[in-house]
Amino acid sequence: MLQTADEPSFRDSVDLMFSRAVRLMDLSPGLEQKIRVCNSTYTVRFGVRLRGKIETFTGYRSVHSEHMEPVKGGIRYALSVHQDEVEALAALMTYKCALVETPFGGSKGGLCVDPRQWEEHELELITRRFAYELIKRDLIHPAQNVPAPDMGTGEREMAWIADQYARMNTTDINAKACVTGKPPHAGGIQGRVEATGRGVQYALREFFRHPGDVALTGLTGGLSGKTVIVQGLGNVGYHAAKFLCDEDGCTITGIIERDGALTDEKGLDVDAVRDWIARNGGVKGFPGGTYIEDGAALLEGACDILIPAAMEGVINKSNADRIRASLIIEAANGPITFGGDEILRHKGKIIIPDMYANAGGVTVSYFEWVKNLSHIRFGRMQRRAEEARSRLLVEELEQLSADKGLGWTLSDDFKERFLTGSDELALVRSGLDDTMRTAYQSMREVWHGREDVEDLRTAAYIVAIDRVAKTYRSKGL
Ligand code: NAD
Repeated sequence: MLQTADEPSFRDSVDLMFSRAVRLMDLSPGLEQKIRVCNSTYTVRFGVRLRGKIETFTGYRSVHSEHMEPVKGGIRYALSVHQDEVEALAALMTYKCALVETPFGGSKGGLCVDPRQWEEHELELITRRFAYELIKRDLIHPAQNVPAPDMGTGEREMAWIADQYARMNTTDINAKACVTGKPPHAGGIQGRVEATGRGVQYALREFFRHPGDVALTGLTGGLSGKTVIVQGLGNVGYHAAKFLCDEDGCTITGIIERDGALTDEKGLDVDAVRDWIARNGGVKGFPGGTYIEDGAALLEGACDILIPAAMEGVINKSNADRIRASLIIEAANGPITFGGDEILRHKGKIIIPDMYANAGGVTVSYFEWVKNLSHIRFGRMQRRAEEARSRLLVEELEQLSADKGLGWTLSDDFKERFLTGSDELALVRSGLDDTMRTAYQSMREVWHGREDVEDLRTAAYIVAIDRVAKTYRSKGL
């Protein structure tokens, strides 16, 4: 956590944002408190024999709200993991799931480990042991608690967790649904790896569909031609930057990583930077851009869109006043502290909040969970039937044209696109796009529909808390 010493912790920062929203709502104090608090946090310390000695690791699984089950939330591997952070992230998961209407409560997990310090087979031992500790307490379970990847974890770790659960629950036919973000060959779904970055792209596309909202940032036009600075070229930051560059005509003018930053007004080659980081462990020395040692200073660089996609607390009371970007989209969880948020709001900066902006991951995780429970991939039954129906229409039109001597022809490009039924990836992207559009519109309705709501974050909290409250009320609470 990088916030200044006089700022609240991450957990308190989330609470303050929650309080700012509930002040504008009509909740009973009891229900407000029930939604606010974190239901439970389990701390585990376990030993693994590595390199000839026993290493002790500390891990957490926090359950914020069980108004819906299973609860859902990623597992983070980082040395900075601690209880306050895990609880803040679990709370954000509750609100995020409600905002994008995935039927889950909120949870989060973390393990104090630097994955770069361990070999793959060692990480597997550590992950399996952590998973064992959580599985035996039903803190990983298809019906109760379903983790996913987060910072420092990915498909590989999720596959180990799924296998560990299956070994411990040999007759559970729904075992694969115990965790999402698995590789496609191990029960995963197409499009999950890219999902959070893809969701950031869809969120920006939806934002730019509303010229009135764009005008509030001082920007004009669409996404094409916009300059972007991204912090963190990991799973989320890389995919967001790549899609915005390749598919929407944005220029990536800055990339901030752990060891410094790169800039190039003409645009950085995102794939080349990613490859460089994979081979060299950082951005330093990359030949295609200017290197800056104080990477965080580039958060203050001039650009149209700033995408913090690394970690929490990076925009805070110490630098918020100097942020020049016209629009900030929080791809990471909690990158702006409560204090930083107040400063930016008073300056009139528009912030697309984390609980919406990075919800693409949990949305596609939801699709994966449904796929695992239904035991069939999306599109398998209808794809060829869809193609056959389209072919019938094309053939009939061509026959009509021939019979009547009209000379109409359908272009090969049109026919190819029209005749292709939707496969799993196309359906996943369609479902994600629909989710991101619908959720933005629900926030926007509150943002512009109420005089007392000044920003998208407060609007997002109001939509989410209202939905959680309705679920609790319907249970008789
Ligand atoms: P990741 O581990 O794949 O990537 C994180 C990247 O940030 C790495 O490239 C790392 O080197 C870089 N980084 C770390 N500390 C940094 C620093 N101080 N300055 C600059 N760069 C730094 O993690 P990720 O999965 O991409 O997650 C990033 C953020 O997005 C986290 O806040 C996470 O909670 C959030 N998020 C992730 C997902 C997901 O599906 N993976 C979903 C929702 C939200």
